[in-house]
Amino acid sequence: MTAPSAAGLTPGSHGRDRLAEPLRAVVGTKTATALAKLGLETVGDLLRHYPRRYDDPSRLTDLADLPVGDHVTVFARTKSTGIRPMRGKSGFILSAVITDGHRDLDLTFFGKNRGILAHREHMLRPGRTGLFTGTIGEFRGKRQLTHPDYLFPEDAEERTRAAERATLPTPIYPASGAIPSWGIRAAVETVLDTLREEDVPDPLPEAVRAERGLPGLLETLRLVHAPRTAEDWQAGQERLRFEEAFVLQAALAQRRAEARAQPATARAPRPGGILDAFDARLPFSLTAGQQEVGATVAAELARTWPMQRMLQGEVGSGKTVVALRAMLQVVDAGGQAALLAPTEVLAAQHARTISAMLGPLAEAGMLGGADRATRVTLVTGSLSAPARRAALAQAASGEAGIVVGTHALLSQGVQFADLGLVVVDEQHRFGVEQRDALRAKAMHAPHLLVMTATPIPRTVAMTVFGDLEISTLREVPAGRAGVRTHLVPLGRPGWLERAWQRLREQVDDGARGFVLCPRITAADDAVEPGTDLTEDVPDEDGAGDAGGGARGARGDGTARAAGPPPRPLAAVDDIAARLRAMPLLAGVPVGELHGRLPADERDATMAAFAGGAVPVLVTTTVIEVGVDVPDATIMIILDADRFGLSQLHQLRGRIGRGTRPGTCLAVTSAPPGSPAMERLEAFAATTDGFELARVDLAQRREGDVLGAAQSGRGSSLRLLRVLEDADIIDAARGEARALVDADPTLAAYPVLARTIAEQLDPERAEFLDRT
Ligand code: ADP
Ligand code: MG
Repeated sequence: MTAPSAAGLTPGSHGRDRLAEPLRAVVGTKTATALAKLGLETVGDLLRHYPRRYDDPSRLTDLADLPVGDHVTVFARTKSTGIRPMRGKSGFILSAVITDGHRDLDLTFFGKNRGILAHREHMLRPGRTGLFTGTIGEFRGKRQLTHPDYLFPEDAEERTRAAERATLPTPIYPASGAIPSWGIRAAVETVLDTLREEDVPDPLPEAVRAERGLPGLLETLRLVHAPRTAEDWQAGQERLRFEEAFVLQAALAQRRAEARAQPATARAPRPGGILDAFDARLPFSLTAGQQEVGATVAAELARTWPMQRMLQGEVGSGKTVVALRAMLQVVDAGGQAALLAPTEVLAAQHARTISAMLGPLAEAGMLGGADRATRVTLVTGSLSAPARRAALAQAASGEAGIVVGTHALLSQGVQFADLGLVVVDEQHRFGVEQRDALRAKAMHAPHLLVMTATPIPRTVAMTVFGDLEISTLREVPAGRAGVRTHLVPLGRPGWLERAWQRLREQVDDGARGFVLCPRITAADDAVEPGTDLTEDVPDEDGAGDAGGGARGARGDGTARAAGPPPRPLAAVDDIAARLRAMPLLAGVPVGELHGRLPADERDATMAAFAGGAVPVLVTTTVIEVGVDVPDATIMIILDADRFGLSQLHQLRGRIGRGTRPGTCLAVTSAPPGSPAMERLEAFAATTDGFELARVDLAQRREGDVLGAAQSGRGSSLRLLRVLEDADIIDAARGEARALVDADPTLAAYPVLARTIAEQLDPERAEFLDRT
């Protein structure tokens, strides 16, 4: 039937591309103008505007839950009407009441002329059932619809179809004041009536459809827009969800195939090299997970096509060791490795810990260096000119086997002698373009290892990182004492004081403590770039994506009730000053850390903290990722409700890394029962990052998960839900990879290829960039 022929690519037998046809030509100017207000310009746009839900005409809509401000369409029965003159003005008011049998809703119409209202009153006479649509308003504490549109099936033009219709599921479309749901439905039906199979080329290959028993596209569109039974629209939606997953997975599979098609230098392990020497001096044994992932990575580095792997794992699961071992294998094979970190603090720390772990193995050419050794060099934006020149020379000559850096590594001046491996730490801060920029510095495509900061559910990983293979480290090395988390509600007198006492006790015990603040300074609203604040962000710009964070400040778009102005969020300078003045902490040096400080000052502060000279550090989320101070045992998070769940988890991962148990105290003024409090309760209840990721996602909208590009109009994911539709995504990924492996350019699947290009490309760059 729809064999992979030109039938898909060229317009149908009419000689026109029906899907690109402007709606004006099919449904008339007036309707087309109204539909355009919903962003629907073409026949294809309208067909892909799916119903939001389906009403069962044998049951009235529950009127209990209609939020003020929502545009709604309800199926209800008229109950009473009455006309009265307006008070103090000329004109009349028609009030009607509709009901679902339990609850009522008021309808209000104004009119100059009693006659016109009387006509409406007749239409709305008690006992009729119909559809009512409008925006829910409120008057004197009661919800109402003002000037709603209404439709009684028995008045519909097609009287003959009315009886039948009364038993069919009623599609309810996302609508607006410009055109009611049934206006959209009528337009869709008009369009559907004119279409033939060849007008709607199907991106799903025939074989895939046949195997899964999925209907063709035209039939599917009929099932969702004009269902005869509930099973119809369910089957239609099922197939559309699969289509969405399949098209996205095919695009990702193509990206993966493109990367695989590039030649890479094989970097086979070299017995007796630096890696072996490193393993011999490791003070601990690798966890089973580290060994398993290590073996996979080692084998992939030895192939002649680039490794494309993501390593995700629980906070503290030891991803860095896995990455370092991969880097050493590449160095042993004569290549260089670059480690890209999201912040200067983290880059500097990586350089320090890697050098420390390597010891003499990182002192090539130096007195005391091992025979077989390399160099670790750090490239950041804040290096002095001579230091930078030296670092760049080491990278360019190949003297430095390991080059650690921030975005500065991407800049033009940075050259490598033979870049064999790129490790991207904390992937969510880096975009694909940046990855590609770094990869372009190698003669052949380098191998790629991406590490995520926090665990994400598998299907999300498959959706967002579908072009990468995924490895997961689930276990945390034995011997970690772990962290206990307690909530400190600000309303409870004495609790906060108790928290400071705990801090003092830990310090007296020789340990260190973090005090986390959302803001940098009390003087302005500046928030650390990349801070994942939720709700009521004082200044949305301040918390924006300056750090390239996948998620920035999140407004939910709903109006907020006016109330007292929010208490300013805790700021580093202010809190540090207060702690220094606190008798309880007398004699305890208190440091301050945030991203606005010069890099050398930050390094000095971190060193003083790690070494114990300054045992209390008041800081922003700048310490979020990767900072490793084994003696840190306590973390007090101020305004904890304002941080996102995965960020909280990441922050908490900074303590309890040694043999002493950690205590995390989350200070909050969130009211009991609020979503913020629920989030914190989940946070206190478990340290399982995968579980927290699920809670986090369930609380957020899908669009936040996949990035803005996937949530708006024109998005390619309309029905698919990354959490609920795991099976579909799994299946689609398998099918899509098989298809693309057999036909990487999709030459035999022109409709699919075109759909990927049309549907994903404009968004894809941005979408993938957010990963
Ligand atoms: P993350 O996965 O969060 O990046 P890291 O790689 O920073 O974790 O490791 C956290 C700490 O655990 C480091 O101090 C590291 O040296 C240590 N570590 C890593 N692997 C092991 C292991 N197998 N046994 C004991 N400690 C380990
Ligand atoms: Mg890490």
